[in-house]
Amino acid sequence: MKTHSYLIKYGEIGLKGDNRFLFEDALMKQMRIALKKTGGKFSVTKTNGRIYVEALSETDEEDVYRALRRVFGISWICPVRRVEDHGYEALKEEVLRYFGETHPDRHVTFKVEAKRIRKTFPVGSQEMNADLGEALLRAYPELTVDVHDPEVLLHVEVRNDAIDIYSGMVKGPGGMPLGSAGKAMLLLSGGIDSPIAGYRVSRRGVYIDAVYFHAPPYTTDRAKEKVVDLAKLLSRYTGPIHLHVINFTDIQLAIYEKCPHDELTVIMRRYMMRIAEILARQNGCQALITGESIGQVASQTMHALYCTDAVAGMPVFRPLIGDDKQEIVDLAKEIGTFETSILPYEDCCTIFVAKHPVTKPEIADIEASETLLSGVIDALVEQAVAGDEVILCCDKKL
Ligand code: ATP
Ligand code: MG
Repeated sequence: MKTHSYLIKYGEIGLKGDNRFLFEDALMKQMRIALKKTGGKFSVTKTNGRIYVEALSETDEEDVYRALRRVFGISWICPVRRVEDHGYEALKEEVLRYFGETHPDRHVTFKVEAKRIRKTFPVGSQEMNADLGEALLRAYPELTVDVHDPEVLLHVEVRNDAIDIYSGMVKGPGGMPLGSAGKAMLLLSGGIDSPIAGYRVSRRGVYIDAVYFHAPPYTTDRAKEKVVDLAKLLSRYTGPIHLHVINFTDIQLAIYEKCPHDELTVIMRRYMMRIAEILARQNGCQALITGESIGQVASQTMHALYCTDAVAGMPVFRPLIGDDKQEIVDLAKEIGTFETSILPYEDCCTIFVAKHPVTKPEIADIEASETLLSGVIDALVEQAVAGDEVILCCDKKL
């Protein structure tokens, strides 16, 4: 038999006090948006502090999982059989039937985890554990009990309105539901790291806007399309992303012309941060996000990070700061951005990059070099911001 109901377990939201319902409502809203993409009809309801999804039309179970595994705030998705209370004996029969139908291979170890939430039910949790376990062993002699590390953990939960029976669980992304925190501006390049940085912050409930700096004709439209594609892939988790495309060519040329070449990358980064901050403020963002990780490249040494951070007047989140590249790659593969990220493209920074960039830039030197830009740079920044091209990136497909 097909399961048509799902019990949704959420982690941290459960720890919230009086505000918990706000988080639950935000979660349900996002679940409805995600489920819509399956093309099916669903009811998403909350009863006694639990969220249930019920399929009201024929739907592919895999589609339901695919949709819900992109909803931040969900820890586990449990296909559940909800039954009415017709007394303990009827429940026992239902449990045997459930196990028979959902576990065709009975050569497994198992444990019953019963919970009597409605205290008027005549049989207690411990008693149910023992009795249902025994009944299962009698019905299916191939089974073996393992109370420590069972292959099948069979949950039987007697609730106020119904009884839930479930065993399998599909892992959700965890985190907090979108809309439960503010909004941040992601510096999104075509690489592997920045999409993952956006994902990690958004997982805490933060909406994302993004900014991409391109340098035509040194970078092509294809490079820009790649960033648009990444933003679309990311939006499957984060919700629609307004991608701000900023023409950085004149700023880059000015820096190239006037500043010491070994400092180019650091100075460019500082201008990217400054412009990102202007856009962040214009668009109601409370923080910036970058994909930097200590020591990954010359522009991400502690000294370089110090210089880049110094220009920011709002918090800069660097969720990958302590991650190894392989960990970032693994997550990129998991969320589906990796294949797009590794497509060849020109990065606007690599084109103007020095052969031997300073690895230990001193802030005083960098500030001194930037004075060489005075007279032109303010107008160039203004012009770049004025030319902001906004692309709405979202993915309506599942
Ligand atoms: P990524 O894989 O995210 O491109 P990276 O390892 O290539 O990172 P850098 O090129 O040093 O590292 O960039 C560090 C961070 O600066 C990026 O993670 C991103 O947040 C930001 N950044 C770099 N280039 C751009 C760009 N062209 N547009 C927007 N942000 C950028
Ligand atoms: Mg890069």
